[in-house]
Amino acid sequence: MNKINTLNKKNKLLNILSEGCRIHPAYRARRKATGLYKECVIVWQARLNINDLEKS
Ligand SMILES: [Zn+2]
Repeated sequence: MNKINTLNKKNKLLNILSEGCRIHPAYRARRKATGLYKECVIVWQARLNINDLEKS
């Protein structure tokens, strides 16, 4: 993946993270989502993907 694609992907993920979960506005993906709520899991996975992008 080239650098621009990586940046685009990261921006999208950061957007997901900043919007957070609509049902649980207090959830900022600091700890793992329980898996019961799809939106929380999406936010959590965005957090993990950002971490992966920063490592590579
Ligand atoms: Zn939620």
